[in-house]
Amino acid sequence: MAQLQPVRGTHDILPEEYARFRHVVDTARHAAQLFGYREMATPIFEFTDVFARSMGETSDVVSKEMYSFADKGGEEITLRPEYTAGICRAFISNGLQQHVPFKAFAWGPMFRYERPQKGRQRQFHQIDIEVIGAAEPQADVEVISVAAEILRRLGILDKCVLELNTLGDPESRIGYRKALVDYFGGHVDRLSEDSRRRLEKNPLRILDSKDEGDRALVANAPLIEEYLTPAARDFFRAVQDGLGAAGIPLKVSPRLVRGLDYYTHTAFEFTTDMLGAQGTVLAGGRYDGLIEQLGGKPTPGIGWAGGIERLVLLSNPQPAAPHSVAIIPIGPAAEAEAAKLAAELRRADVAVELAYGGNAGKRFKRADKLGCAAAVVIGDDELAKGVAKVKDLKSGEETTVPRGELLSKLKA
Ligand code: ATP
Ligand code: MG
Repeated sequence: MAQLQPVRGTHDILPEEYARFRHVVDTARHAAQLFGYREMATPIFEFTDVFARSMGETSDVVSKEMYSFADKGGEEITLRPEYTAGICRAFISNGLQQHVPFKAFAWGPMFRYERPQKGRQRQFHQIDIEVIGAAEPQADVEVISVAAEILRRLGILDKCVLELNTLGDPESRIGYRKALVDYFGGHVDRLSEDSRRRLEKNPLRILDSKDEGDRALVANAPLIEEYLTPAARDFFRAVQDGLGAAGIPLKVSPRLVRGLDYYTHTAFEFTTDMLGAQGTVLAGGRYDGLIEQLGGKPTPGIGWAGGIERLVLLSNPQPAAPHSVAIIPIGPAAEAEAAKLAAELRRADVAVELAYGGNAGKRFKRADKLGCAAAVVIGDDELAKGVAKVKDLKSGEETTVPRGELLSKLKA
């Protein structure tokens, strides 16, 4: 039998990696709290329609990457490829209109059927920030500021560049769309098959194509800049000014578009040149039309998602978990005392390693390997005297400590 493997594009997060993974989530959660975002979660699967309606049928995600299936009751279900659609669905389902601006932080696994490579998996994880019910450019500035603060706390802000663009308001898009149709329409023969389809349904999407031939054409495509209405222009200006005031450097990237249908105005990405082809670490934008598209009352929104795996790849390993204490009983009588002491210590929040068996030498070795700060040795002699021997495993220093003082000594 072939060796048992996880499904292609999925991977196990073993304890060492998990510590780094959790550090990213904890850092993000904490920074989000500092800005007034509250953690929430939505189900890992939704009705397929939630994603199809919001992300757009011509998006790569909906057209090629969704894990969709009919469940045993015949419902069309999809494993979530992203968080935004689910959170907006939850906003509508739970009648949260009275609670705007609704500011959420979330994290969890996402699923996309893609070609697996470094930084690109079929099950991956995202941290996510959303603000629903805020139309002001200050909200755009805030969500980008949260992102920058998280990257700063992870020590990777200076490895990233904030790229910013505007996709304009719906009115700007009408003129721009026409310009794109004219331009790409003149080069249909050079467009990829996917992009020919996009030309009819959503020409803006061509700008985000990964096909090389398409990319060559995109390089000379008209820019939205010329088609912005005064209101859209002012909005973009206000976002840039706000970021300037917040001390967040940015690069305007006039060709940046996002892969999903629901974006308006602000689009942004934090990118890095340190992860090869998978250089987008965190990305998002404004989605003023989305809630309505999902069947809710017109409600503006803005948010972003960051790939946890990519954030882990970019950040430095964290120092190991807090050190624990190993208890090493010698002889059957000491075993009982060791169990009692272990319970006492754990109740007082001291982590305890109690090796299941083996001689003292083996247990010492194991304590060392686990990185324990100290070993407590209890033998018949110590039992009789009501003491324990405490060995500092870093310095090697050994002291005899009365049983009653053990807890305070080991806590210190
Ligand atoms: P890409 O252009 O790399 O495919 P995307 O535009 O599809 O990215 P988003 O939908 O914006 O990505 O997702 C936000 C973030 O989630 C990305 O910037 C990335 O960090 C992460 N991400 C997206 N897809 C994957 C994946 N398959 N594996 C790992 N991380 C991913
Ligand atoms: Mg993608």
